[in-house]
Order: sequence, then C-alpha cells, then structure tokens
Amino acid sequence: MKPILIGNWKMNGTKETWRPLARNIAQQMQFMQGVHAVVCPPPPAVGEVAQELAGQTHVALGAQSVHHQEAGAYTGGVSAPMLASLGTEYVMVGHSERRKLYVEEQGTVLRLQQCWRHGMTPMLCVGESLKEHEEGKGIHCLDMQLQDALYGVSVIEEGKLVVAYEPVWAISSVSGGKTAEPKDLEESFRFIRAFLVERFGDVGYTLPIVYGGSVNPENAAEYMNIPEVQGLMVGAASLDAVKFVAIAQAMAEKKA
Ligand code: PEP
Repeated sequence: MKPILIGNWKMNGTKETWRPLARNIAQQMQFMQGVHAVVCPPPPAVGEVAQELAGQTHVALGAQSVHHQEAGAYTGGVSAPMLASLGTEYVMVGHSERRKLYVEEQGTVLRLQQCWRHGMTPMLCVGESLKEHEEGKGIHCLDMQLQDALYGVSVIEEGKLVVAYEPVWAISSVSGGKTAEPKDLEESFRFIRAFLVERFGDVGYTLPIVYGGSVNPENAAEYMNIPEVQGLMVGAASLDAVKFVAIAQAMAEKKA
C-alpha cells in the first residue's frame, strides 16, 4: 500500500490560485510515484480542480465535507452526488473544524454512507481536544468518535475508509506553534488500529490510518516513523506546492 498524502486547502484561495496550485502539485508529483496524493479544495473549487487534474493519475481529487442527505432543501449544502459527478474520489468527514464551527458532530455515519453509496472513499477525521488531552481522556474520545461514526457499520470493503488521527491541539490554526511528539501519538494509533481490526477483522488492516497536525517538510519523516502511520493529512503546508511535494518526498524516502 502506497503512503497517502492528503492536502486540506480549507477556505483558501480563489479562482486565480486553485488551478495553478493543483497544476503545480500534479506536475511535481509525477516524479513521486511512491506516494498517493489527494488534494481537497474548497467547494466552489472542486469543479475547477477536477478539470485541472483530468487525464493524470498522480493526484486524486478530494472534498472537505459532504452533506448527510442526497438532495433537497439544505441551503449551502454539498451532496455526495454533486461531488461524485465532478470526479471526486475522497471526502473528508468529521474534520474538527466542521464538527465545531458547523455543528457537524452528529450524522457522521450518514455522511460515510453517502460517500460509499456514491463510490467515494471517506476520510474520517478523529481527535481529542486540548482539554481532553490534558485530562488524559484522549483514548476515550477516540473510542466515542469511532463508535459514533461507525455505528451499525460492520462490513467495509478493503481500503474503503481512511482514518485521519488529528489531535485538535496539534492543528496549526489552534496549536500556536505547538506540535505533537511522535512518541506521544503511538498509543492513539495502536488504539485506532485495534478498533478497526476488532470491528472489521482482517479488512481492518487494509484501512489506512494517517496523521494530521502541523505537518511540514521538516517533521514529516518523524511522523511517518510512527508504527501504524500510513500517511499524512496536511493543512497549512498544503497551500504551497513546494512544501507539499517536499512532504511527499520525505514520505517516499521513509516508507520506501
Ligand atoms: C488540518 O486541519 O487538517 C491540518 C492538518 O492542519 P495543519 O496541517 O495546518 O495543522
């Protein structure tokens, strides 16, 4: 399984910048065959970036969120059929910013099912807050989030779910420069893998688990060294093609 590098562009850029960023990344990723890259532009950019990425296989298209319903009176909503029709292959579900700022704490399992129904792979984001971390409740939080997101899901196709462990306190927009020590993350990764294997049997080993939280070209290799880490989710550094590709380079060297 190739390591996966996911770029979360969040609410950044405009029509002038989206396609050049995607083009730059795709051009440079052709020399990085050992890494599977996914870019997740903001909703109005998905169609634009889809056009830019058409006809190449180095970078896949992702989205940052999806509505839990197929269609209807949900002003501002972005549905799975919309994303799939544009060629989206991956969808982030349950990012901490969506959970907090858009009150998307509930309905996670319905979002996952929307992705599967429309042939896309959800990338489920889980992770404890700073308070939970400080109170030693990180594993409990992961357990609750995984139980909730996978409620009633007992069968999954091989590779058809990515789990992104993103401790909220380590995400660059809230961490104030604080980064997580790789050794402090090992228990969480072990827990997530054990959860997936207990729930899905051997298929649980085929579901990539990635790390996200202030990853940059300098620290990427250290995070890739953590057992169970099969990729990285990158926010701020994914807006710079040079940094994003440098992270891919570090990953390719580590897991080669
Ligand atoms: C994120 O929010 O998914 C993320 C990983 O952000 P950053 O890399 O900026 O910490």
